[in-house]
Amino acid sequence: MRQNVQLVLAGRWLVSMDGGVREEAGISVAVAGDGIAEIGPNLAVKYPQAELLTCPHGLIMPGLVNVHTHAAMSCFRGLADDLPLMDWLTQHIFPREAQLTKEIVYQSTLLSLCEMIKSGTTSCNDMYLFTKEAARAAAAAGMRAWIGEGFFDFPSPCYGDIENGFAYAEELFSDCEGSELINITVNPHAVYTCSPALLQRAAALAERKNSLLHIHLSETRDEVKGCVERYGCTPVRHLEQLGLLNERVVAAHCVMLDEEEIALLARRGVKIAHCPESNMKLASGIAPVQKMLKSGVTVGIGTDGSASNNDVDMFGEMSTAAKLHKVRDLDPTAMSAESVLRAATLGGAAVLGVADKIGSIAVGKKADMIMLDMRQPHLCPLHNPASQLVYAAKGSDVLHSVINGRVVMRDRRLTTLDEVAVLAEMEKIGKIVRQMR
Ligand SMILES: [Zn+2]
Repeated sequence: MRQNVQLVLAGRWLVSMDGGVREEAGISVAVAGDGIAEIGPNLAVKYPQAELLTCPHGLIMPGLVNVHTHAAMSCFRGLADDLPLMDWLTQHIFPREAQLTKEIVYQSTLLSLCEMIKSGTTSCNDMYLFTKEAARAAAAAGMRAWIGEGFFDFPSPCYGDIENGFAYAEELFSDCEGSELINITVNPHAVYTCSPALLQRAAALAERKNSLLHIHLSETRDEVKGCVERYGCTPVRHLEQLGLLNERVVAAHCVMLDEEEIALLARRGVKIAHCPESNMKLASGIAPVQKMLKSGVTVGIGTDGSASNNDVDMFGEMSTAAKLHKVRDLDPTAMSAESVLRAATLGGAAVLGVADKIGSIAVGKKADMIMLDMRQPHLCPLHNPASQLVYAAKGSDVLHSVINGRVVMRDRRLTTLDEVAVLAEMEKIGKIVRQMR
């Protein structure tokens, strides 16, 4: 394997998430094929034929894992802000989503993928509409992606009636079968948009396909209230009564949970996508992440879509996550920088069931890595890398990015996507979206 090293990353710090931090001039990670082959000093000398990504003050770390996105919602960024979730959804988002097209979804997903790569994300878990287009965009970008078509009781602009939705999902599964980077998931939108029958049918599909089941859960007080009125119990208990809580489930938000529900989610092995900025912007509340972690629940971090964030920068999300729980509990020891960094890397990998493949830098794991340039006014001096990454670094500090052994950004230039062309297309799409009524 070592003879086949085709790429070497060399910097000054290595934050592996799997054995601490190393500071050493020329600390390197060698890549053979899609995997990490060797870690050590000055590997570029040992492998002179390999492509070199270097920075004298570079910090090499695992790529970030964004466990809840709606990438194509970048077309709605800043269009309707400062509104309650239900007004925002029913008056602004759902009417415009009803007019979406394949092309808008493709281009808007590409835009988010440009932004993700430029801010250090190497894996995302995306739920949306027209997801064959999202899969096409992710393949073009070289992103590691989990993708699923949103299911609702009402007709979708993509597939019309839900019967066709299941046919569409089946096609998506077969289109992406054997893909190294694209994983298909099953995505019932939420308990307030999906009947019990639809939820159960979706769960059966996930079971049959051995895939993740990605759903919004207990996001707001209104969702809980509505569920109690309709079904006589909270959303988490509703899913439990339907027999749907298990280790396949990736539940986004989980803001409104009581102690018993946290214990239940832990027992059932449900994974959580914590989306603090979206929850803050829509005034949904603060998810009890500390309690979840203490109960043994696996938690990753997600940005949610750009319409409710309004970006997909995981560095910003980490900084928010670390501060939000401190202010909630009036406890500065809540959610340390280390624990947040873990949630955004290995935690996210565990949410997606691939902690053995990604989320840390170790020989034999997939080569999903980023390098930041730490010789900058806001990152100097470097006493504690985890603190610097969570509290001071920004997505724009990422210099190089590698996904599955492939260089997707070199010196902040995307290698797989034409950023200028994507931005030009989005100008046009922005006009179309503004004109939608
Ligand atoms: Zn969402």
